[in-house]
Amino acid sequence: MHTSSRSNRPTTGTNLEHARLHNRRVVLEAIRQAGRLTRADLTRLTSLTAQTISNIVAELVAESMLTTHAPEKTARGQPPIPLSINPDGGFSVGFHVEQHQVLAVLLDLKGSTRGRRVHAVSYPSFADALPLLAGTVETFRANLPPDRLLGIGIALPGPFGVEGMSAVGPTSMPGWDDAASLARLRELTRLPVLLENDATAAAMGERLYGVAGGLRDFAYLFFGHGLGAGFYLDNRLYSGHWRNAGEIGHVIAVPDGKPCYCGKRGCLERYVSGASLLEHLGIGVDQNLIDVDIADPRHAAGIERWLAEAVPALRHAVNVLESLLDPETVLVGGTLFDDILRRLIDAAFPLHPSVSARADRGHERLRLGTAGPDCVALGAAALVVLAELSPDYQALLKA
Ligand SMILES: [Zn+2]
Repeated sequence: MHTSSRSNRPTTGTNLEHARLHNRRVVLEAIRQAGRLTRADLTRLTSLTAQTISNIVAELVAESMLTTHAPEKTARGQPPIPLSINPDGGFSVGFHVEQHQVLAVLLDLKGSTRGRRVHAVSYPSFADALPLLAGTVETFRANLPPDRLLGIGIALPGPFGVEGMSAVGPTSMPGWDDAASLARLRELTRLPVLLENDATAAAMGERLYGVAGGLRDFAYLFFGHGLGAGFYLDNRLYSGHWRNAGEIGHVIAVPDGKPCYCGKRGCLERYVSGASLLEHLGIGVDQNLIDVDIADPRHAAGIERWLAEAVPALRHAVNVLESLLDPETVLVGGTLFDDILRRLIDAAFPLHPSVSARADRGHERLRLGTAGPDCVALGAAALVVLAELSPDYQALLKA
C-alpha cells in the first residue's frame, strides 16, 4: 500500500503543480484583460473557489506580480481591494535578429518598453551571436531587482529546420534553430528561451502595439530581407507545427519565373521582398537596405521596375491569404521603408476579386501596419510575458 502510494506521488504532484500554475495564469490573464479586479470579481469570472483565489492572490502579491490599491468604498462589510498587474513584477527580453542588425528590447509586465539596444552584425550564426545575446541580457538585468527576468524571446527569419532550404540564400539565417546553441543561451542566462519566426512575432507586435488592436483574425505580410506571413487567427497566434506557418515567400507566384535560392523558380520573394528591391537597384542582395538612400533620384527607375514586378505578385499573395483564411484584413509591415510599402500597397489596388470583397468590412483589405520598427522585438518579448500571464500561451516557454 505504502509502496504504491509512494510510486504514484510524482505523477500526482506534477498534475497539481500544473493545475496550480494554470490557475495562476487564469487569474493573471483576467486581471491583465480587465486592468483592475477584486478577489470577488476574480471568483465570479474564473469559477475558482474564493479560497483558491485568495491563496493565488496572496502568492502573486508576495511575488510582486500584483499591486493592491486603496479599498473601494462600500456601505457595509469588508471593503473590496482592487488588484492590478505590477509593471515591475516581471520583465522579458525580445530580440529581433536580422542579417545586419540585432535589436533588443526590455519589456515590463504591462508591456511597456523599459530598455532598447541596437547592434550591427553581419550574417551572424547563433554560436557567433551568443556572447552578444547573453551580454545584452546581463546589461538589462543589471538594472532590475533580482530574479525579475522571466525569459528571452528571439525572432528571426525562417524557415526553421527544413532540409535543403534554410541553409541557402541571403534571405535565410541558417543554424538559428540549433538545439545546442539554444541550450547554451539558456545555460548562460539561466532563463527560458523561445524562438519564433519574425513574421509571427510581428503579428503579435502589431496586435499589441499597432493597428490590429481589436482584430480577431488577420494575416501579416512581413517584409524583411525576404518575405514571410504571420497569422493571428481566432484571437491567437498560429505559427504551425514546426513554427514554419506562413513561409509564403517560397510559394510560386510566377510559374517558370526567376530562379530561387530554394531550388524552385518564380517564388514570391524573388519579386516581393527587400532582397528583390536591392536587386532592381543594382545593389548586392547581401547588402543592408537601411543603408540605401531610397530618395536618391538615381534609384527612382529601379524602384519603378521593382513595383511593376512586385505589384502582380503581391496581388497573388493577398488572393491566396484571403482565400485560405478569410481574414479581417491583410497587414503589411517590416523593415522595408514605410514609403516604399505605402506605394506598393496603393499600387496593389484594385485587388483580385475574392471572398474578402464585401461591403461590411471594418478595415481595408490590405493596409500598412503601425507598430513601428521595434514591432518584431516587441512581439518576441511580449510572447514571453504572455507565456507567464496567459493560459493560452503557457506552452511557448517549455524548455
Ligand atoms: Zn524559393
